[in-house]
Amino acid sequence: MILSIASGKGGTGKTTVAVNLARSLGRVQLLDCDVEAPNDHLLIHPKEAGSKPVHIRVPRVLEERCNYCGKCSEFCNFNAIFVAQGKILIFSELCHSCGGCSKVCPRKAIVEEEKEVGRVRWGRSRDIELVWGELKVSEPVPGPVIEAVKDRMRRGETVIIDAAPGASCPVVDAVYGSDFCLLVTEPTPFGLHDLKMIVEVIKIMGIPVGVVVNRAGIGDRGVYDYCEKEGIPILLEIPFDRRIAELYSRGIPFVEEMPEWRERFLSLFEKIREEVGG
Ligand code: SF4
Ligand code: SF4
Repeated sequence: MILSIASGKGGTGKTTVAVNLARSLGRVQLLDCDVEAPNDHLLIHPKEAGSKPVHIRVPRVLEERCNYCGKCSEFCNFNAIFVAQGKILIFSELCHSCGGCSKVCPRKAIVEEEKEVGRVRWGRSRDIELVWGELKVSEPVPGPVIEAVKDRMRRGETVIIDAAPGASCPVVDAVYGSDFCLLVTEPTPFGLHDLKMIVEVIKIMGIPVGVVVNRAGIGDRGVYDYCEKEGIPILLEIPFDRRIAELYSRGIPFVEEMPEWRERFLSLFEKIREEVGG
C-alpha cells in the first residue's frame, strides 16, 4: 500500500505522524517528499547509504543562429523566455523542462543542457528504509526532486510518503498515485481552513482521505463538525501533550518512549487498510 501523509498547512504534526507510524509498523519504506524542508531523517537517524544529484534539462540559446522571432517565448507557458529587439533572455529558474521551445524554434537555435536542482539521499535505520530529497537553495521548482525520491519507491511494499505542507503542486506531485491520503490537522479555525483546501485537492485526485487530529483538546469543534458533514473519518486523535513535544524537540519519535502509542498507530494503519478495502 502507498499511504501519503499531507496537511493543508505547516506545523500541524505531519512529520510526527509519518515518523511514528513508520516506527510502529517497523518494516516500511518512508519517502520524505517535503524536499524544501526535509526533516524525517532528523527523527529517523538513518545511516546514509547513498545519494545522487537531480538534474533537469534547461534551454540555452545559440545567439549566432537566433533572429529574435519570439516563437520560443510565445510557446513558453512559464514566461521563462524573454525576447526583445536584438535580445533574448532565459530564466532557467522558471523553466519546467518541457523541451517545447527547442522544438518550435525554426532556426534550431536552442539546445538543452543539464542543470543540477537538488539531491536525493537514501539510508536505513533498523527496518525503515528512508529516502529523502533536498531541493537546492534558490531553486523554485521542487517537482523533479520529488520525482527522483518517488523513483526509488518499492512498489508492492508498504510505503509512507511524507508530502510537503500546503495544497499546491508539490503536494499533488507527492500524493499522486497513493492508495490513501492521511490528512493531519489541528482543531483550530486555521487548521479547519487549510484542511478544507487540501480535502478539495485530494478529492479531485480521486484518492480516499482520512484525518488525524493533532493537539486534540485545544481549539474548537469546527474540524470535527466539518469531517462529520463531509463523511471524512477521523482515524486518530493525538492530544496536546508536553512529553510528545519534548521528545520531538530531542529528535525522538514518541512511540519509542511511549509504547502505548505504538498500538494506536498500528490500529490507525488497520483502519486505513479497511478504508482502502483490505
Ligand atoms: S524561436 Fe529560435 S530564433 Fe526565434 S527567438 Fe527563439 S531562439 Fe531565437
Ligand atoms: S523548456 Fe519549456 S518551460 Fe523551459 S523555457 Fe522552454 S518552453 Fe519554457
